[in-house]
Amino acid sequence: MAQIQGLAVHAAGAELLPYHYDPGDLGPQEVEIAITHCGICHSDLHLISNDWGMSQYPFIPGHEIIGKVSAVGKDVVSLKTGQRVGLGWQSNSCGHCEWCTRGMENLCPHSEGTCVHRNGGYAERVRANARFVIPIPDALESEHAAPLLCAGITVYNPLRNHGVSPASRVGVVGIGGLGHIAIQFARVFGAEVTAFSTSASKEDEARALGAHHFVNTRESKAMKEAAGTQDFILTTANADHDWCTYVQALRPTGTLCFVGVPPSSVTLQAFPLISGLRSVSGSPIGSPSRLREMLDVAARHGVKAQTEIFPMAKANEAIEKVKKSKVRYRAVLAN
Ligand code: NAP
Ligand code: ZN
Repeated sequence: MAQIQGLAVHAAGAELLPYHYDPGDLGPQEVEIAITHCGICHSDLHLISNDWGMSQYPFIPGHEIIGKVSAVGKDVVSLKTGQRVGLGWQSNSCGHCEWCTRGMENLCPHSEGTCVHRNGGYAERVRANARFVIPIPDALESEHAAPLLCAGITVYNPLRNHGVSPASRVGVVGIGGLGHIAIQFARVFGAEVTAFSTSASKEDEARALGAHHFVNTRESKAMKEAAGTQDFILTTANADHDWCTYVQALRPTGTLCFVGVPPSSVTLQAFPLISGLRSVSGSPIGSPSRLREMLDVAARHGVKAQTEIFPMAKANEAIEKVKKSKVRYRAVLAN
């Protein structure tokens, strides 16, 4: 097989540089995708700067991928060459552990990432096990759908697993790539939605995306007034906050769920958890079957990422803009 060209990071925090690698023979259960679009998730930035201590250099980031199937392994029957598909954070799992057999492949202890210890989607092509390569509904445009493969599933899955319904009051903390999609899905689920943001300038857009209420979290008065108002708070912020105030914002039996990764340990007081039967949880991406469901829901209910397109060759420029929180709301690289 021909070499794959992409943009790799060679040291923690370094700029991306042109890079190529030999993908070897295509495995019998693998699919190769000719990439048209790849979103820039903040997890790529965490990996580039080795925030999680797991990065091995050089590697090509990127895990919000859409493209066309360019080759299929000899045992793949589910996908055809030329078909439009997506690939997210996970590219393989063992297929036989308790979690894989229960349809929760995202919890597999032998899960393989798309761009962790592997080369991902800031490239012309990428490979993955066919089980993790998902057909894209016709109604979704590639540019607006690519971010659904990670940001979309990461916010859809916990809303779904926590039974969000028209009876729910849902808060979304951090209105970025994940948060702006979370507002849309929470509305589709019928919830009353509150956006919690450090950026007063995002109020109008958050409301246009579907938020009923907007709380500027830099205003302590507004945070005090939010006490006891939410059933489910999904936090997508990649920054430290006073998490005690978010527990206080929960109604009895409410849950504060982390999908964003703050840099510091999360400090909480036990008493508000105990007295109001409140919980704190976390949630990682979603399974392939949940990805299919999420894409179908997005297609039928008009959920889509608001994107800024950059040519693949301008990936460094796009990353700088993401770092400065200047993108509304997802940068997408296009080949
Ligand atoms: P993003 O587009 O950069 O958005 C993050 C948002 O967090 C910003 O828009 C901002 O919202 C808020 N924020 C950023 N810096 C802040 C600061 N210094 N102080 C306060 N708030 C700040 O990032 P993303 O792609 O949505 O990713 C968010 C997080 O989710 C990352 O940590 C990423 O690694 C994680 N993630 C987790 C999973 C999973 O499986 N659990 C999957 C994907 C991503 P406001 O302006 O509204 O405050
Ligand atoms: Zn991601």
